[in-house]
Amino acid sequence: MAQIARIFNENRIPLWTAIPLESPFVIEVEPTSFCNLKCKYFLHTLPNQEILDNGHKFLHMSDEVFELLLEQTMQFPSKIKQIGFAGMGEPLLHKRLPYMVEQFKQRAGIERITITTNGVSLTHQLTDALISAGLDHIKISVNGLSSEDFKRNCGSHIDFDQYVEQISYLYKNKGNTVVACKIMDSCVGDAEDAFFDMFDDKCDTMSIEKTVRVFREVAYDGIIEKDKDVLSRYDMRENRVHICASPFFRFAVKADGTVSACRLYNGLTHSSFHLQNRTLSEIWNSSERRRMLLGVLKEEHTGLTAQCENCTLKDDFAFESDLLDDYADQLRQKILQN
Ligand code: SF4
Repeated sequence: MAQIARIFNENRIPLWTAIPLESPFVIEVEPTSFCNLKCKYFLHTLPNQEILDNGHKFLHMSDEVFELLLEQTMQFPSKIKQIGFAGMGEPLLHKRLPYMVEQFKQRAGIERITITTNGVSLTHQLTDALISAGLDHIKISVNGLSSEDFKRNCGSHIDFDQYVEQISYLYKNKGNTVVACKIMDSCVGDAEDAFFDMFDDKCDTMSIEKTVRVFREVAYDGIIEKDKDVLSRYDMRENRVHICASPFFRFAVKADGTVSACRLYNGLTHSSFHLQNRTLSEIWNSSERRRMLLGVLKEEHTGLTAQCENCTLKDDFAFESDLLDDYADQLRQKILQN
């Protein structure tokens, strides 16, 4: 029987005590920016040309970029705690995903490897490969409870019975991998109990997440009711946070090797933040990133931190142990002295 629980790691240390970190705790990796769905709350809902016009690219991560990423991940003085495969695209569409998981696990000794997926491309063979590669956690974003729901919410036809069977197979054969299924409130509507009943015997944890405005390019009318904006998908807080925690402990690497100093979506980047130009640890210790951190602490939304202006992610992922608002002066001094 699955537990109803929000999907995030609650075993976190108070972030302010650890800053400045000598190595990131988490690296988000985007294996591909292609997707097989067009979910109404996600960037892929837009026509492809519009996505390109907004500066996004469609590509799979090349072997060359992956090797650089793997090598550079191992150059930090302490081990990265978590590699999370996610991003603009659907991670399972990258044919070498099991290899990537295995390499991070075996060669880089990463403690926790996670995948966030819509689950549509799962096959028995892929499931077996991911589990034997050492995957620790898989979060499946279920976007409806029938083929009709998927058509309505994601603009795509899927064989829903086959989809559920694949998730069942994954759960039965999961070994040490934790399987989590979640659905957005805008996809489940009033059928919350039906979701819990359907997935109760097919995963370790189940949850319903709030739909949050993530992409400024996407119109959320009809998805989020007017005046019903929420700050966090996990429903953690009602008050806004001021200082975003992400850039203090996280890096993100896009399919083309571009590095973001915080998250994959709308993240802080610099023209030289690319694996081919500088190593991850050089970027982590760079003067540009340091200026970004100081800008975030000062709540500056100009220059290197201009992206923060309309970014909803600092509230969306504001975990209690990561809150920095009360420590801004102290942290600024520590960073200046470092
Ligand atoms: S507010 Fe957004 S853009 Fe700014 S540091 Fe946080 S995640 Fe990055």
